[in-house]
Amino acid sequence: MTEIKMNSTAQWQARDARHHLHSFTDPGLILEQGSRIIVRGEGSHVWDSDGRKILDGMAGLWCVNIGYGRTELSDAAKAQMDRLPYYNNHFQSAVPAMIELAERLAGLTPAGLDHFTFANSGSEANDVIVRLARYYWKLLGKPGKRTIISRTLAYHGSTVAGVSLGGMPAMHGMDNGTLPEFAHVEHPHWYVNGGDLAPADYGLKAARAIEEKILELGPDNVAAFIAEPVQGAGGVIVPPETYWPEVQRICRAYDVLLIADEVICGFGRTGAWFGSQTFGIEPDFMPMAKGISSGYLPIAAVALHDRIFDVIAKGGLWPHGYTYSGHPVSCAVALANIEIIAGEGLVERVRDDIGPYFQASLQALADRHPLVGERRGVGLMAALQLVRDKATRTVCTMEDNAAILTREACYADGLIARAVGQSMVLSPPLVITRGEVDELMEILTRALDGTA
Ligand code: PLP
Repeated sequence: MTEIKMNSTAQWQARDARHHLHSFTDPGLILEQGSRIIVRGEGSHVWDSDGRKILDGMAGLWCVNIGYGRTELSDAAKAQMDRLPYYNNHFQSAVPAMIELAERLAGLTPAGLDHFTFANSGSEANDVIVRLARYYWKLLGKPGKRTIISRTLAYHGSTVAGVSLGGMPAMHGMDNGTLPEFAHVEHPHWYVNGGDLAPADYGLKAARAIEEKILELGPDNVAAFIAEPVQGAGGVIVPPETYWPEVQRICRAYDVLLIADEVICGFGRTGAWFGSQTFGIEPDFMPMAKGISSGYLPIAAVALHDRIFDVIAKGGLWPHGYTYSGHPVSCAVALANIEIIAGEGLVERVRDDIGPYFQASLQALADRHPLVGERRGVGLMAALQLVRDKATRTVCTMEDNAAILTREACYADGLIARAVGQSMVLSPPLVITRGEVDELMEILTRALDGTA
């Protein structure tokens, strides 16, 4: 085995700064402060290059659902690599690991979502859906139905189609809108946008903004609406209960396909296999990635409803694919990951035990802490909204810098949390223990106390 030579932190940082353009990072920060070098992981913790043990409150990037260090996945990868490291799933060929994964997924996804195509990332999965949705309408004789509606604060990936779908000013400001035929409506965050309306009324209003947008664009021009069941990277925004049923009604009424982006919500995070099941959504397409392999290898899948597949199947050659679509090693790892999630009852654990414990702990903190106006979340994804004034729901501003200060204090004290706008965001591994939730709460509370 090739050993990675261990360097001192300073050496790693210097080498990293010299040769790497960091994702989602100001290059100036890397030159000034250096990067954080993470060298290994076990369970819900990672270790940095100074040997410091850090609780990973973000499961990597919302993805290490089964936790770090599960050798079942490396065993599955090795066995598949030894048997067949690569073959493609194009031009009429298929590999058994991909066939088995598609079959396994069909047993977990909501009824009717029985067909799959594979990709390497959530971004690619959303790209292929944009193509598929437009192609579907073209085959049905409605080639004008091309625009995809998404939401402000949405995150659907970093490809050109992904950023056009996205709605986060900090992430997508540079090139959002460069592709035509994408439109946005307001994200359904009652605490910030709801004004005097009751949450249920605001949920209907937010959904009806989609209807207004469809009418403004003309239903004959709209292909699909895409949304995450719970907006993740935008700040764990859980819509009011009235929102999803109304969205569904509107999409059906205007022949607009519904895409539920499960890249974060899938594979147990919300306490069901998919966020669509938690919220009663019946989508036409479901992109999934991250938790499908717990991040151990890159792989993504797109579930297509039978009614979509039946049309596509009659269209002749489907001219799409990536070299690594349904890569056999990634599929074998995804299968082993799904066996762990199912075998250890992690979904039920999130729904009935650790999820409620996690949310209740955060709610207790939100109730008593002056800096926290709202706890929102479901299962093992949550956010705390930082506020200047709880009574008037006046949220902190970027100038307050409260979320970033809190995030940095957490990291210094041994917890990875994320700052999104003026919210603290958490999404720990599904295997996190109650003791580790308590540890997380202690560090987070100390950090918020220091910021307040
Ligand atoms: N969709 C959602 C909801 C996501 O959160 C992400 C990534 O965070 C993506 C799509 C893009 O996935 P990837 O980073 O694997 O391309």
